[in-house]
Amino acid sequence: MVYVLRSGLAHITTFDGRLRIPYHVEPPYLRYLQDGWTFGAAELVQKRHRWYLHVSVSKTAPDPVGDFDAVIGIDQGMRFLITASCGNQVMFIRGGKVKQTRLRYVRLRASLQRKGTRSAKRRLKAIGRRESRFMADVNHQIAKAVIRFAQTQGQRPLIVLEDLTGSNLSVRFRLKDQYWRMSWSFRQLADFIRYKAEEAGIAVMLVDPAGTSETCPKCGHCEPANRSRKRHEFRCKRCGYRCNDDLAASRVIAQKGLECLRQSQSA
Ligand SMILES: [Zn+2]
Repeated sequence: MVYVLRSGLAHITTFDGRLRIPYHVEPPYLRYLQDGWTFGAAELVQKRHRWYLHVSVSKTAPDPVGDFDAVIGIDQGMRFLITASCGNQVMFIRGGKVKQTRLRYVRLRASLQRKGTRSAKRRLKAIGRRESRFMADVNHQIAKAVIRFAQTQGQRPLIVLEDLTGSNLSVRFRLKDQYWRMSWSFRQLADFIRYKAEEAGIAVMLVDPAGTSETCPKCGHCEPANRSRKRHEFRCKRCGYRCNDDLAASRVIAQKGLECLRQSQSA
């Protein structure tokens, strides 16, 4: 059992009784020791001869009701890692370079796995770490760009993201071997956007991704045939509305956010 106290001590139950061990908090995280944050579960982790304390913190966010002057829908995808839209303003962030780099890592890993020697295993680990650092760095940059985009859209913007927890992702990305790595980095990007938005005082709302990519942003008609993934095109079978498929999805996501706002206001 690990109990983390705000006083800077962690109480850890061991076979030799309870230990009281002081912990150090890096400056960017000091704010979690104050203003209304609650400590959740803690976990002691050993990594390369150092001990880390992973502590989850939570805070009840104010209800996202009220006077937003811009609602930004964010679609995450493979071709465009981000498609952000707010009315007629659109920002695409291409995934091509990232995809190439990741494929290089995939091939490298595969060849090392085939070798199976001890040094190959060591390299495999190092490569995994390098790949994680690369993806985290890319995700930080992208998240920053999303926040900048949101800030240019209004004084009080609302960012709407798809809720990618649980099984939602596997529905969207049937990638088999690459699935876990991809889903991990998709979620990381969504998390980074949320953290950075919170730091910038921007509200974030998560919406159900069901049907997002098949729904017409103009008339609301939902049908899988509306979307041609091959041509990257959205074309509504009912009203004929046409646009890039990721853009259509980001618009639908923004609308879902607006719909949630309306419901919470009328409730
Ligand atoms: Zn339509």
